[in-house]
Amino acid sequence: MRGELSADVIVIGAGAAGLAAAGQISRAGRSVLLLEARDRVGGRIRTRHEPGIAVPIELGAEFIHGSAPLTRALLDSAACPVVHAADSHWSVHAGRLVRRDALFPQVIAAIGRTSVLQRRDMSFADFLSRYVRLPGEARQFALRMAEGFDAVDTAQASARALVAEWTGDILGEAPQSRPAHGYDCLLGALLAPQQAGALQLKTSATVRGVRWFRDQVRVAGDFAGIPFRARARQAIVTLPLGVLQQSDPAAGAVHFSPPLTAKADALRLLASGAILKMVLRFRSAFWEEIAQGRYRGAGFFHAPGAAIPTFWTAGARAPLLIAWVGGPPAARLARRAPRARLTLALRSLQALFGRAVDVPAEVRGCYEHDWQLDPHARGAYSYVRVGGDGARADLARPLEDTLFFAGEATDTHNESGTVAGALDSGRRAAAEVLGGA
Ligand SMILES: Cc1cc2nc3c(=O)[nH]c(=O)nc-3n(C[C@H](O)[C@H](O)[C@H](O)COP(=O)(O)OP(=O)(O)OC[C@H]3O[C@@H](n4cnc5c(N)ncnc54)[C@H](O)[C@@H]3O)c2cc1C
Repeated sequence: MRGELSADVIVIGAGAAGLAAAGQISRAGRSVLLLEARDRVGGRIRTRHEPGIAVPIELGAEFIHGSAPLTRALLDSAACPVVHAADSHWSVHAGRLVRRDALFPQVIAAIGRTSVLQRRDMSFADFLSRYVRLPGEARQFALRMAEGFDAVDTAQASARALVAEWTGDILGEAPQSRPAHGYDCLLGALLAPQQAGALQLKTSATVRGVRWFRDQVRVAGDFAGIPFRARARQAIVTLPLGVLQQSDPAAGAVHFSPPLTAKADALRLLASGAILKMVLRFRSAFWEEIAQGRYRGAGFFHAPGAAIPTFWTAGARAPLLIAWVGGPPAARLARRAPRARLTLALRSLQALFGRAVDVPAEVRGCYEHDWQLDPHARGAYSYVRVGGDGARADLARPLEDTLFFAGEATDTHNESGTVAGALDSGRRAAAEVLGGA
């Protein structure tokens, strides 16, 4: 990249939010420069296709939660079918693996019997221990679900925000599903119409600094190690929350000048949660064969108390189990060596299946990505801390009709932490840019 690049609008980050925003603006006839630090688009959508495995390996986003109309429409436009994900739950109880499908409805019913959150917010851990009447197993499930599904530290997470999400669309009536051929189909669908539009996409272009005044944005960065500059009248920032919260350039921080003082409270009241996801590949889907086929078609396996407490299947006969931990335990495990993590995952699985199978003898590979250490992610997805009611809206609010903000952390419709929320936020920021034109 030589000289100074220019466009009407610069979009920083080509994940789901950035691609959605850039597409909408370029289709409206305004020139867009989309700058992406990685050598690929998609950000926290990262699909691998491995020879010999019919299903995609998703290192980041995998499920379509709730109705997600935009996600489904985009996949449909790319002729990518959506398949239901098995939703049966098996859990170790009194030393045996038993069906446990009713725990979440039981938790939601118990939460519905208290109104304390209408008066004040508190941590999810406090809320559960002081105000929700639940038997021990369901209580443990609720804590694991908060850590696992929402990647939160339950001692810090806002109970109000968590309950709003759990009783909203993404965990509501619509069954969980997956893009059959992988979430990367969605990226193809987002990119296809842009090739014809007024869009320049630069990958391997890391933004280091943003100088901005009303109606003027100057961006500096490096393109594969070589400095570049770019300018535009407006910019949409889709940097992940964990990146926006960094101050050290070596850790991925982007320097804003003047600083984003108006965002300081929002950045303090939101947190970037940790997830450890390991895709384990086996010689065969052995769990379908053991115990007279009892676990054939199973969705989730839970090993409460194990180092890796949750596993799920990736579709009938697929020889993959996904090992999953969220929240502070995930942050701790992420600091261990990959080999040690794998050993813990296999031990946890052995605890699930007992003597019916020699789990380490079955394993053929393990795929993972460290989202916590990744300087372009700095965490898996965002959550709200206690008292952070308006923080997502504050983060989303444009500055001086010049800097606009998108990304899953800016979602205000209980879809944060999802691809659907990121896409919607990109569309919202694009509409703000176009509305102010
Ligand atoms: C392990 C894991 C599992 C998940 N599972 C699901 C799931 O099942 N279903 C679901 O809906 N969601 C899931 N999610 C969440 C989902 O992936 C995200 O909410 C969504 O992809 C975020 O999109 P985004 O555009 O907001 O951010 P990102 O995808 O992170 O995009 C931001 C972009 O900015 C780029 N960037 C960062 N720094 C710079 C810089 N300095 N200069 C230029 N570019 C930069 C990044 O490289 C990235 O491409 C999961 C996430 C993780 C990590």
